[in-house]
Amino acid sequence: MSATLTFLGGAGGTVTGSKHLLEAGAARVLLDCGLFQGLKALRLRNWAAPPLDPKTLGAVVLSHAHIDHSGYLPRLCRDGFTGPIYCTGSTLDLLKVLLPDAAHLQEEEAEFANRHRTSKHDPALPLYTTADAERVLTQVTRIDFGGHFRPVPDVETWFAHSGHILGAGVVTCLIDGRRLVFSGDLGRYGVPIMVDPDAVPAADVLLVESTYGNRVHSSDDPKERLAAAVRRAAEQKGWLLIPAFAVGRVQEVLYDIRGLETSGTIPSLPVYLDSPMGIQATQIYASHTEEHDRDLARVEADGTRPFAPRRFTLSRTVEDSKRLNDTEGPGIIVAGSGMATGGRILHHLKRWLPDPRTTVLFVGYQAAGTRGRLLKEGAREIKMLGVTVPVRAQIMVSDAYSAHADREEILRWLGGFERPPAMTYIVHGETDAATALRDAITGRLGWKAAVAEDGQRVTL
Ligand SMILES: [Zn+2]
Repeated sequence: MSATLTFLGGAGGTVTGSKHLLEAGAARVLLDCGLFQGLKALRLRNWAAPPLDPKTLGAVVLSHAHIDHSGYLPRLCRDGFTGPIYCTGSTLDLLKVLLPDAAHLQEEEAEFANRHRTSKHDPALPLYTTADAERVLTQVTRIDFGGHFRPVPDVETWFAHSGHILGAGVVTCLIDGRRLVFSGDLGRYGVPIMVDPDAVPAADVLLVESTYGNRVHSSDDPKERLAAAVRRAAEQKGWLLIPAFAVGRVQEVLYDIRGLETSGTIPSLPVYLDSPMGIQATQIYASHTEEHDRDLARVEADGTRPFAPRRFTLSRTVEDSKRLNDTEGPGIIVAGSGMATGGRILHHLKRWLPDPRTTVLFVGYQAAGTRGRLLKEGAREIKMLGVTVPVRAQIMVSDAYSAHADREEILRWLGGFERPPAMTYIVHGETDAATALRDAITGRLGWKAAVAEDGQRVTL
């Protein structure tokens, strides 16, 4: 049987929009269905005609829940895809939070364009609606890690742990005796909460991500910078504001705060999780104990709640959140968005940035042009919520948190293959990162490897 693979997104120097079309005989399976994010030229690709007729697609297999891997699904289904979507159970639970949120953002964007007449379309319409996102969830089938399934009759498929975020899998597809392995996003070794990436023994064709294919993560312990920030807040009797992504980073930060309290490294300050999505994601992380690593299981064994610092408050409503503006520190507020582009962190920054007792700790990647990047680079004043806010707070940065394997960790994972794949395609990385990883794979492992090109079709 002939089998081909076409790279429809997350290739050719692009990190977002992950979509790879597997064609086995007459059957078609889409691996990932991601939204293009970031620069406008990329986002416009979400509006182009679908790269394939959704009605001709047999199934979708999702590596994990992140929107750059799942966020085009509502549009695909609206445009006629009615087939099954396969992912792990925890990925489905996260999709229930992330897809409606993505739809809500699309609706807000359209509403903004209509109010300010910034679109050439009248009226401007959202890429998809909350109802479209809800419909996707009815098409999902949950699959356990290691459980074999057939998205289409001639393709046997299973997930191994990728260690990236809860539910994230490496996808193996067996087609007529040939193995296609798609890494999805790869996590790290020896980090808290997540299990290490599973070794995958065999592939004929391998797709490997390369987000940090040209980098080696800082060997600093992320807890040290966090502890320093908490101690400063305690000494100054001020607030520590931590902008954090709701899925993954919020849980890591809460886990580390609790751990630092337990070891007596930091005082126990009041901690507010001020993020509805962060609260939901934390509950999902806590409930999927089958995916917890050994450290987390040890913490839980004596009944400790791993993501709950001692003086912990869930700030659910807008009123709960606003009340913190009238509350004096010391204390810690963990809120979204991670790059201070929106969300509840904004009104806390507006209120507390002018106060020199305040500490802000960035714990994730800050993209160019975001408020997070500006603050990280030392901006003395910053615009938000219609005003210019002077920055007198201490800004701190921890670069040691990451959900992605770096170059050495990717190579370590590749070392798990018992023999080299006939061909390795590098996906999901900016051009520099993807080519650096290709060079490392060809140079150090002696494997045949190439950077996948956008739209390229290859034979399996
Ligand atoms: Zn991801």
